[in-house]
Amino acid sequence: MENMWGQARAELLKTVGQNNYRNWIEPLEYDGVSDGVVTFRVPTQFMGNWVSRNFGEKILSELNSVGAAAKRVEFTVAKMAPKARPAAEKKTAEPTRDEGDLPGAPIDSRFTFDSFVVGKPNELAHAAARRVAEGDSATFNPLFLYGGVGLGKTHLMHAIAWDLKLRQPDLRVVYLSAEQFMYRFVQALRDKQMMDFKQLFRSVDVLMVDDVQFIAGKESTQEEFFHTFNALVDQNKQIVISADRAPGEIKDLEERIRSRLQCGLVVDLHPTSYELRLGILQKKVEFYRDKYPGLVIADGVLEFLAHRISTNVRVLEGALMRLFAFASLVGREITMELAQDCLADILRASERKVTVEEIQRRVSEHYNIRLSDLIGPKRVRTIARPRQVAMYLAKQLTSRSLPEIGRRFGGRDHTTVMHGVRKIEELRGEDSQIAEDIELLRRALES
Ligand code: ADP
Ligand code: MG
Repeated sequence: MENMWGQARAELLKTVGQNNYRNWIEPLEYDGVSDGVVTFRVPTQFMGNWVSRNFGEKILSELNSVGAAAKRVEFTVAKMAPKARPAAEKKTAEPTRDEGDLPGAPIDSRFTFDSFVVGKPNELAHAAARRVAEGDSATFNPLFLYGGVGLGKTHLMHAIAWDLKLRQPDLRVVYLSAEQFMYRFVQALRDKQMMDFKQLFRSVDVLMVDDVQFIAGKESTQEEFFHTFNALVDQNKQIVISADRAPGEIKDLEERIRSRLQCGLVVDLHPTSYELRLGILQKKVEFYRDKYPGLVIADGVLEFLAHRISTNVRVLEGALMRLFAFASLVGREITMELAQDCLADILRASERKVTVEEIQRRVSEHYNIRLSDLIGPKRVRTIARPRQVAMYLAKQLTSRSLPEIGRRFGGRDHTTVMHGVRKIEELRGEDSQIAEDIELLRRALES
């Protein structure tokens, strides 16, 4: 049966998505089967209910499709066995998970400050999170972290929770997504347990709500969130919020909530830089050394990945994990060819699409001329040459046709574009300044 559960999990990963999988399926521990009832251990009652309601059917059907002959799945709250983890990580003691009555989601033990790589794009957010994790007093309240997908918001929140619990095991730290908050709220309404709900949330010491943009447009949830928020701030309890954008940019968020959110410290996580991505990859490699002994990565592979997969750290990590798994399976060194082969789909999906508009902007900045001049009718050399450079780059770096490019340069004819492109091709061979300009621009546009 354990085996079947292994297979069923692999299928579930495909159908529920990585996020759901990580939050809800992965933490389940197979307990046993009797009379066709398959039981899993879960850390909290809340989690059991949630999984049962949202994924119960799916789990059952996946189990049956790999031949389990199960009638029902059940979830029982139990102290969970600590996850087997690579030795490097074992030295951190596990904070007690035994908090049955608290409403939060489990804290992921991989997301610590130790495993968080700090670079320019995230140093402020990291410093603020560290400060909150010291837990002396609510210095910034709330701490509002925002930034694009996969830049480390959830990681930092878990790290805060983890750190706080290590220092002060009795602290009531609650982490949950805004979606879970809403789910709890709706459930309490339905079961006429609003008093309990309010009491529960007002009794925590630190409340962290992830992806708060989720409650935009959901009026009664917002209302309740607002009251919870105020009650906690009044008691000087720390609140940490994350969202995918700044408070002022979340549509359909009540004004009073928006201004409340803005009155603490608002910090953003910037898109990762090449250096940060490389740092993250190196850290991961170091971390998994024990788990995949004999793993050899050829020079340049990490640099290649950091260069090519630039938007989302989650995808970057996923790529590395796939390489590890593949290489250890076939017992081969991870070479550039292997990486390109094994990651073709990811690399294709994260190919950066340069637009003609971006090229125009960069080129006009580079030559210090106005964008309107670059596109406009002026024909003096100081403008016409950069214009031809921009046309050349548009032809090289985008899939636009000559007439399409012409249209974007103030409605010029495709023959004009062609002439410009040829001219630059010619000049590249003769004029080292132009060659250098183009190289510089190309690199900036592709990074
Ligand atoms: P977000 O919540 O902002 O969408 P996550 O916190 O879930 O992003 O991060 C996505 C993945 O990338 C996680 O596995 C996380 O550990 C990893 N990650 C993101 N930023 C960093 C970083 N600076 N150092 C190490 N890992 C990171
Ligand atoms: Mg997140």
